[in-house]
Amino acid sequence: MKYFIHTYGCQMNIHDSEKIAGILENMGYVNCDDVSQADVAVFNTCCIRETAEKKIYGHLGALKKIKRDRPDMTVVVCGCMSQQDGVAEKIRESYPFVDVVLGTGNLNLLQQAIETAQNRKKFSNIEFLQYREEDFPQSRTSYPNAWVNINYGCNNFCTYCIVPYVRGRERSRPFGDVIAEVNKLLAEGYKEITLLGQNVNSYGHDLDGNVSFASLLREIGKSEGKFRLRFMTSHPKDLSDDVIDAISEYPNICNNIHLPVQSGSTEILRRMNRRYTRDDYLALIDKIYAKLPDAGITTDIMVGFPGETERDFEDTLDLVRRVKYSSAFCFVYSRRKGTPAYSMEDQIPYSVKKERITRLISCQNEVTKQISATMVGKRYEVLAEGANPSYPDTMCGRTESGRLVNFKYDASLTGRFVTVYIERASSATLWGSVVEEE
Ligand code: SF4
Repeated sequence: MKYFIHTYGCQMNIHDSEKIAGILENMGYVNCDDVSQADVAVFNTCCIRETAEKKIYGHLGALKKIKRDRPDMTVVVCGCMSQQDGVAEKIRESYPFVDVVLGTGNLNLLQQAIETAQNRKKFSNIEFLQYREEDFPQSRTSYPNAWVNINYGCNNFCTYCIVPYVRGRERSRPFGDVIAEVNKLLAEGYKEITLLGQNVNSYGHDLDGNVSFASLLREIGKSEGKFRLRFMTSHPKDLSDDVIDAISEYPNICNNIHLPVQSGSTEILRRMNRRYTRDDYLALIDKIYAKLPDAGITTDIMVGFPGETERDFEDTLDLVRRVKYSSAFCFVYSRRKGTPAYSMEDQIPYSVKKERITRLISCQNEVTKQISATMVGKRYEVLAEGANPSYPDTMCGRTESGRLVNFKYDASLTGRFVTVYIERASSATLWGSVVEEE
């Protein structure tokens, strides 16, 4: 029996898919890459952007013929999109061959739902049910890296974002549970742990006892053995001095901070309900560089938010040049039904968004290129992650600050720390050779 999983969206979803794979493997299924051969096909969806949603509906439409030829196949739709109001109903009406619709919080029902569907009953339950992370088997596919959820949901209600409506309010996993999972992964030989949450900085505020994200970092940072600890995502308004201190105190906590700014204009940030100003953000960046001079700061930036003027956009370009992000995920604003920004006036025409995104990407590329040039001729410790599928005979890894480095393939290096001499750089990628092994 075979399963196929198509994962859309962010790191949280990729990690959820590892849990889905674990549940299916526990049920006796093996992974396959061809949906037409699968006995269970899972679509782990994302609703952050309308384009992602359209793509998912397109893929479901394409499945109709396969399902007609193989009626015993079980089709599952889960993830953020299916948690939205009306989506389960729309799927049931327009794609009646979908057997199971599950929301984000009830993966614990997956096995029961599949078994029910296989008895040819329809199953749809998008109520949120609390579950314990460690109750799920997981099929991790990313050695030497492993992801660990520390909190779920979001309380921030940025005006463009659907996440708080579909993932619910913030819920922190118990401190001891996170530590136990991390210790288990380290004992199994994982070398890089990434703590995940929509807003990791608010970890612990809903837990008893004196716990915070900084205390969690310190507790993990104390662990013995050589490993790296990363985290994402940080909301700028909640990144405390204590967290910056914790990063500087423990060498195994990476100086790599993903700090989504979204816009460099205070007025646009206000309309987005981000709850910080341009000056607040720049002051935070100064604090980070003061404590962590070699930090790699990455970000998300949106162009074309309703009301964004040319002046607002130029403020964003100026901020990009000032902060010197090592990389940025740049995207155009797209309207999400159910969010306040959907009905804001002054929606920006697509032609303007397109022109701005091109200028923003070119501005960020120039910044990345300048940073890359300063790295040529120096040595960096890199965790070798495995083959780089884009280049033959090449493997890749990351520096502590998160920069991707390519070097000559040697399978025995996977999962080991190596020192790489950087020989050349393209804008975003560094190329080098191993000069020292762990
Ligand atoms: S912080 Fe804002 S953008 Fe991030 S998940 Fe929460 S509401 Fe969405």
